[in-house]
Amino acid sequence: MKKTIYLVVPCYNEQEVLRDSADILKKKMGSLMERELISEKSKICFVDDGSKDSTWGIIEGLAADDRIFAAVKLSRNRGHQNALLGGLMTVKDDCDAAISLDADLQDDVDAIDEMVIKFNDGADIVYGVRNDRTKDSFMKKATAQGFYRFMNFMGASTIYNHADFRLMSKRALDAFSEFKEVNLFLRGMVTMVGFNQDVVYYERQKRMAGESKYNLSKMLSLAFDGITSFSVKPLRLIFSCGILFAAIGVIMALTGLFAGLFSIALSANHMLYALIWFMGGMNLAAMGTVGEYIGKIYSEVKARPRYIIEKYVDNKD
Ligand code: UDP
Ligand code: MG
Repeated sequence: MKKTIYLVVPCYNEQEVLRDSADILKKKMGSLMERELISEKSKICFVDDGSKDSTWGIIEGLAADDRIFAAVKLSRNRGHQNALLGGLMTVKDDCDAAISLDADLQDDVDAIDEMVIKFNDGADIVYGVRNDRTKDSFMKKATAQGFYRFMNFMGASTIYNHADFRLMSKRALDAFSEFKEVNLFLRGMVTMVGFNQDVVYYERQKRMAGESKYNLSKMLSLAFDGITSFSVKPLRLIFSCGILFAAIGVIMALTGLFAGLFSIALSANHMLYALIWFMGGMNLAAMGTVGEYIGKIYSEVKARPRYIIEKYVDNKD
């Protein structure tokens, strides 16, 4: 049985690239159908994320003229991550797997073939991972690399050089729909789903036209969401700093006492400084402790699934 694959493409003010992208994606789907890798029911679904230009008009027109295109419109701009999730959840019951990619086609569409082949071979999630960043601007490269490193240091583990170009099977999407959180960092959440995961490598291209919709502030806000929704490490860091500062205070107090015993002259305010370190440290440690409880409350209210069942075998005879 050939599988039905939907491409899900979030679009925000993409009128400059949309028609070209639609053409390229249609050709790609056509060739996959010809090679019998995907079913004729497969589609390309554009998600308009509350664009202010003619993006929706173009998408609607495409969907009206050609059955290969589908269109979803969000009521207003909700940002890339929400638009992508909205698209995936809308199509998940109509397809066997969905592939998410950006409207500017910076992600190599030829990598889709390999994703589909890996899916047909049994993978549930296939990550597109770029193997170099030579085509990105220096600024983009530096911020992106820094972003991944910092995220991993902060405990939000993601796949290096993977953004949101990936294939997810229907059952992975079903499992994913159990994640009810509102602050989205999809690339981090998807790794938690489990099942069979695989990777394809590709070279990322320059944007065909238009401008990047991810300015520095959107990027920082994504990084912040990633860290704060995945990790209590910042809270633990506060606690550790507190303990360290308090320990410095104790050591200073001990050296003060020691100096007193052996009549070694120290700064007149030595014991005062010791007290300041100690009290400051205890304050931070107390905040870190409260933070630890807040972290627990946070993970409770996110109500993530505690487990996802992959198989259930129950032979009655
Ligand atoms: N996008 C979106 N909503 C937004 C911002 C961006 O749906 O609020 C889409 C955008 O149309 C594109 C994708 O998200 O398809 C990635 O954006 P962009 O190419 O500007 O980011 P970059 O590649 O520069 O990181
Ligand atoms: Mg882009």
